[in-house]
Amino acid sequence: MTNSDLMVRDLAHIWHPCTQMKDHEAIPLIPIKEAKGIYLYDFDGNRYMDAISSWWVNLFGHRNEYINKRIKEQLQTLEHVIFAGFTHEQIVRLSERICELTGLQKCFYADNGSSAVEVALKMSFHYFKNEGKTKPYFVSLTNSYHGETLGALAVGDVELYKDTYKEIMIQTLQTPVPKDRSKEATEEAIRALKTLFEKYHDKISAFIVEPLVQCAGYMHMYSPSYLKSAKELCEEYGIFFIADEIAVGFGRTGTMFAYEQAGIKPDFICLSKGLTGGYLPLSIVVTTDEVYQRFYCDYNEFKAFLHSHSYTGNALACAAANATLDIFEQDKVLEKNREKIAFIAKELQKFKDLANVKEVRQTGMIAAIELQGYDFSERVGLQINQKALQRGIFIRPLGNVVYFMPPYVITFDELKFLIDTIFDILKEL
Ligand SMILES: *Cc1c(COP(=O)(O)O)cnc(C)c1O
Repeated sequence: MTNSDLMVRDLAHIWHPCTQMKDHEAIPLIPIKEAKGIYLYDFDGNRYMDAISSWWVNLFGHRNEYINKRIKEQLQTLEHVIFAGFTHEQIVRLSERICELTGLQKCFYADNGSSAVEVALKMSFHYFKNEGKTKPYFVSLTNSYHGETLGALAVGDVELYKDTYKEIMIQTLQTPVPKDRSKEATEEAIRALKTLFEKYHDKISAFIVEPLVQCAGYMHMYSPSYLKSAKELCEEYGIFFIADEIAVGFGRTGTMFAYEQAGIKPDFICLSKGLTGGYLPLSIVVTTDEVYQRFYCDYNEFKAFLHSHSYTGNALACAAANATLDIFEQDKVLEKNREKIAFIAKELQKFKDLANVKEVRQTGMIAAIELQGYDFSERVGLQINQKALQRGIFIRPLGNVVYFMPPYVITFDELKFLIDTIFDILKEL
């Protein structure tokens, strides 16, 4: 079997995500034969460093021995069971741990990030419905991304994904994201949020944000103090605060969850991606006992949250999630990452000398280099992706923004090779 054998068979029947399929007339699809640690291996014997953690999901490497072991053990007893009227040990344990980590009290499960966002939106709207109030609007930040299902897409604001569908979107209001980390930008954005809340608060159920980093929004970063003030405004105006930690959760920004850096406690937290260490689809909406109680009554009052997905609470996925949390505890991951974060910061300095670099940004284990002087139509990101593959590195720039967010098991030498390779590619462009 070669790369090209599988590519031909794939293209005969498969339509890939987030892809103009015609691109594959010129750009080969890469069939992966196996993966280990931070590396992917194709059928022609090439090796690629997975520097973006397979779309931000992988934390402790591919085919991680400990996670593999825990999933295999789980396979011996239970793979999946309907999650209405039934429960299992892995999910009880996972929920206890997630509540302990977040300080919230209740977990509602789904099976991917977008579905978690839908749950949080519906639940916040439904909470007010159960109080006899109809609040049909949601507020989100400009340049935000919350997933691809219609509700999640509607609260998002990345034109490229959303514009086509604008006629079928739910009611949302966008408020400006702070344009950088400065005090002025933060205050300006807070003033705009206050003005919006003043005008529409009795119609707004929730404010949804990606804490600290808008990952799909070209790795835009802003200050924790914005989150702190925004949460205060939400409390003042009776609006729920939803932290979409799907991409930034589980240590990506340096702390277990990004919102912690603002010293706040959200009303809803959406978790997915790193939750299972990149192994299996699973998501959680974590919320408060107060929210839960608003739905808790005799059946015939019809206030229950009747949302469900077939694979909710899958036992294998929960086993992977528990194994992932074990690794965080046993290996002191957040503490060890601090050295890697400092190392990345030091190594990124040199990019500031390149004429085609506009800005260098970093929050924890996420680093981004924004380029300048290229037109969108040149697809410079794609050129960089192709050059990097030739040198054994897989990155997938967002427009003119080159970024990396590797699995935490990357070594210092590998980080150095990654950063130096990106530097050389940018210098030679
Ligand atoms: C990826 C992502 C989602 C959507 O998760 P899926 O599992 O891809 O549906 C939602 N919000 C944020 C911030 C994300 O990065």
